[in-house]
Amino acid sequence: MSGEHLVIIGNGGTAVSAVRTLRASGWRGEITIISREPFAHYSPILLPYYIEGRIEESALFHRGEVLVPDPRIQFIRGTAVIGVDTTGNSVMLEDGTDIHYDVLLIATGASPIVPAIPGHDNVDALVLRTLADARRIRDRDLRHTAIIGTGPVAVELGIALARQGKKVTLIGRSRVMRRIFSPAVAARIAAILTDNGVEVMLGQRDIALEPGWVVTVERAIDCDAVVIATGVRPNTDFLVDSGITIGDKGGIIVDSRMRTAVSGVYAAGDCVQAPDYLTGAPIINAIWPEAVEQGRIAALNILGMDAVYRGGIPRNVINIFDVPVLSVGYLSGDAKREEFPGGWITTYTHEGQVIGMEIIGELHQHGYLPTLYKHASYPDWLREAAVGMFLSSPEPRYPPRVRYSRR
Ligand SMILES: Cc1cc2nc3c(=O)[nH]c(=O)nc-3n(C[C@H](O)[C@H](O)[C@H](O)COP(=O)(O)OP(=O)(O)OC[C@H]3O[C@@H](n4cnc5c(N)ncnc54)[C@H](O)[C@@H]3O)c2cc1C
Repeated sequence: MSGEHLVIIGNGGTAVSAVRTLRASGWRGEITIISREPFAHYSPILLPYYIEGRIEESALFHRGEVLVPDPRIQFIRGTAVIGVDTTGNSVMLEDGTDIHYDVLLIATGASPIVPAIPGHDNVDALVLRTLADARRIRDRDLRHTAIIGTGPVAVELGIALARQGKKVTLIGRSRVMRRIFSPAVAARIAAILTDNGVEVMLGQRDIALEPGWVVTVERAIDCDAVVIATGVRPNTDFLVDSGITIGDKGGIIVDSRMRTAVSGVYAAGDCVQAPDYLTGAPIINAIWPEAVEQGRIAALNILGMDAVYRGGIPRNVINIFDVPVLSVGYLSGDAKREEFPGGWITTYTHEGQVIGMEIIGELHQHGYLPTLYKHASYPDWLREAAVGMFLSSPEPRYPPRVRYSRR
């Protein structure tokens, strides 16, 4: 790409990674970044800390400011893109403006799924994805919050509120963080949450909402707020009729160069279905390190380099109060568990090859990364995915041996 105009839809981690890569390469072309939110780039990962009061709102923004000032980057904030004309090379804004692009990068992320729970229309249920959502939760003087869902956002929010001394009930259909951790680790996480005052109600399939109440088969929960945290869906509705292919999970289908079905249009981050590392199947892997990596790969290909995405690798790291939990890769196949004081490591193999691992508990002796390197059977991709998770985080969740002090 020489002097063309790049338009990026979205101003999250994917967009910032792409712009950093472009500028680091020396490319000085014109960029327009469009975001439907009114804010500068901020880190959604830190929102639970903000809700807890552990950090000020200004701390959410620190990393984004490196893009400013750059006279050849124009920001359009607070305006949504409502359509893309891939024949005429333009994006349509909700205020009626059309913006021409030579190259387009779609990095619109995802939004909370709000399932059709009976009574939902009569209740002012909350979600947590954006700074506006976080402000809404933080600004309310909550007494008892019912959180529907037991994924990472639900758990992190529950911990943030409980640390403030507030009453929290987590309500889930099956186990805690079932897509990320094994049943044994999920059970331990549920126990730690309970020990720290978070009520965990699992196996709840039939629930209904009423103003001030969540009604389950077991009992009615008296609460002054309901937060729905049952997962996210890619923001791709505005691409109807654009010619860009959307996959079975609602994500933009991209190849290993982050190219969509339309020439000159790239997509990356939480809004895509990209190849899985092991299977090559188009998956959604809506985590920060993949967003950063995909944004980087898209930028390199926009520059005309032939950069290949190695494929999405499931991974997650979370502090359950003061107990760190980490999983990398695929938790299936043969499991081998090694105990250490206060926790355990499980290694998963398939046909003799290590394909995943998880750790729960503080590795006082060694720290996480040295432990990964100590296991000679772990393949490089697994180690690199774990290291990438720590390095790409806008705020290390728990860098080895360093933890937040208990409030
Ligand atoms: C509370 C919380 C905690 C999290 N914790 C972790 C964690 O611990 N580890 C981890 O790996 N991941 C975590 N995540 C997920 C991580 O934040 C995402 O994977 C990452 O932010 C994805 O970046 P993105 O740029 O693809 O999308 P987003 O950050 O969602 O950014 C999307 C951008 O697109 C804009 N946009 C959307 N639609 C339009 C439109 N139609 N027109 C214009 N602009 C539009 C939005 O305003 C936004 O600027 C967490 C997320 C949340 C909400």
